[in-house]
Amino acid sequence: PSSMREVMLEIPNVSWNDIGGQQDTKTQLKEAVDWPLNHAKAFRRLGIRPPKGVLLYGPPGCSKTLTAKALATEAKVNFIAVRGPELFSKWVGESEKAVRDLFRKARAAAPSIVFFDEIDALTVSRGSSGEGTSVADRVLSQLLTELDGIEPLVEVTVVAATNMLENIDPAILRPGRIDRKIYVGLPDSSTRKAIFDIQFRKMACGRSMHVDRLVEMTDGFSGAEVVSLCQEAGMKAMSENPDADCVEMKHFEECRMRFRSRISPEALE
Ligand code: ATP
Repeated sequence: PSSMREVMLEIPNVSWNDIGGQQDTKTQLKEAVDWPLNHAKAFRRLGIRPPKGVLLYGPPGCSKTLTAKALATEAKVNFIAVRGPELFSKWVGESEKAVRDLFRKARAAAPSIVFFDEIDALTVSRGSSGEGTSVADRVLSQLLTELDGIEPLVEVTVVAATNMLENIDPAILRPGRIDRKIYVGLPDSSTRKAIFDIQFRKMACGRSMHVDRLVEMTDGFSGAEVVSLCQEAGMKAMSENPDADCVEMKHFEECRMRFRSRISPEALE
């Protein structure tokens, strides 16, 4: 019986159109993941090694997970997701086995993307006291073994994500491992506009609505916060009038104040 039964294996249903803006990220990811999966011959012809893995880093709520899913959907490959901390909590005592099973499953499901969220959880505090090796130590070295063992072109790509690049063990990022880093930052104004547009496809908006104003007043928001503001404005409209048939600008303005952007300047790179 596999200890990894609960690991999600799916073809996600997120398309590039569900993600506002972030054009740069999309392009870089396609090169790093889509090409190796779908243009293996070109890599052979050119004699270059396709990337084995990609690290998405940047502040929380800015579409790292969403992007990884869209990548799998659009490339029509399987998607296997695991969160770093889960390896220690869910599979106590069998964390290394969990890592092994994860990659076995990914190979069996190839072509596939293994999405490793919060990979910073595998950081080892080197030199810390204690005898023998810690669990984190062993999980990390298992991960490195698996990464080193993935043959290029076997159609398994690792996409990892973190909010804390500085906490990633440098061994993970060495050439031939997860050696591509892509910064996914806060949405700029055109990206925020695109996120509002996506939200407004499914929201009834009153005549007072003014997207450019909304874009201005959400400077510094993460994508998740923009979505959440829309949600709260809708709730506000309902609390005023349960029969409301649309949201208006004033609902957004009233909710805006509750969003002190939670993103600290240090998280901005
Ligand atoms: P974390 O680091 O907290 O895991 P993340 O960077 O992986 O965050 P996601 O989980 O991808 O962020 O995004 C959270 C939510 O924010 C998404 O489910 C989506 O609703 C919204 N969101 C963020 N960025 C965008 C975007 N560019 N377009 C559309 N929705 C977005």
